[in-house]
Amino acid sequence: MFTSLSDRLTDTFRHLRSKGRITESDVNSTIRDIRVALLDADVALPVVRHFTGAVRERALGAEVHEALNPAQQVVKIVNDELVTILGGETRRIAFAKQPPTVIMLAGLQGSGKTTLAGKLAYWLKDQGHTPMLVAADLQRPNAVTQLQVVGERAGVPVYAPERGNVSGYDAAIESRSGTQGFGDPIAVARQGVEEARRQQRDVVIVDTAGRLAIDEALMRQASDIRTAIDPDEVLFVIDAMIGQAAVETADAFQRGVDFTGVVLTKLDGDARGGAALSVAQTTGRPIMFASTGEGVKEFEVFHPDRMASRILD
Ligand code: GDP
Repeated sequence: MFTSLSDRLTDTFRHLRSKGRITESDVNSTIRDIRVALLDADVALPVVRHFTGAVRERALGAEVHEALNPAQQVVKIVNDELVTILGGETRRIAFAKQPPTVIMLAGLQGSGKTTLAGKLAYWLKDQGHTPMLVAADLQRPNAVTQLQVVGERAGVPVYAPERGNVSGYDAAIESRSGTQGFGDPIAVARQGVEEARRQQRDVVIVDTAGRLAIDEALMRQASDIRTAIDPDEVLFVIDAMIGQAAVETADAFQRGVDFTGVVLTKLDGDARGGAALSVAQTTGRPIMFASTGEGVKEFEVFHPDRMASRILD
């Protein structure tokens, strides 16, 4: 992840450092190189424009750090702007004053939601919390079973409907939404949160359905689940490999479920990183976590400053 972007920026800065004095034209050519590197990494054009504009303004402006030589100053400016674009401060979970804290997951099918649910639950448990998982993705074959397996691996209980045996089961909803005999996902989500409250679990993570492409009926379902369970956090899960489709997908989910934070998955892959560098900026919502593999522990809190250093190292 980011290897190619990182290599190219390193080359650009090496070239800049080789100059004793830096002229305006050096700054401009550095910014041109950064622009091409970002575009090649699939970063969305408006984000690239904003980024290079901010770097140019600061690099050509009066900003002087006595302790740094001119090349270091430009690197520092790029670093600062990268941190900003990645969301600035590390954003932690907003836990509810009255437990349980309700966390809803939303995102396209295959983005890694179910896997993430297990990782997040494991991580919370490791920090002394008592999470519960709720299987409200009733669309995808095996999603319920998959969450049960994930829960078992994480050592966390799972609230899951039984096929054809849920209260709130409604044959009309079933035939409309095709939830494979599991009934109404909105009722399941609500019951799951109630069950977590009854069992005094302090966090409840609700997995929801996604499609391979943005789908209006499912977005409405996710939006109805959001209204029904009134979550403290809505995490939009996005596959870092998504490339240029990141912005459009994130926009649709922002309109649909008004998410509070982003989780990037598959950061262990060889994605070019554009999604990561675009969504926080275009949606104004912070990236909160990163998923870095298929194992339950391959998960980390997202720190914009550390990620920027990793890119510029
Ligand atoms: P969902 O449809 O959104 O619930 O997605 P899943 O959780 O089922 O994940 C889809 C596929 O991606 C599965 O094969 C997962 O094992 C895989 N996956 C999920 N997260 C990661 C990750 O961070 N890294 C890698 N390499 N694979 C992942």
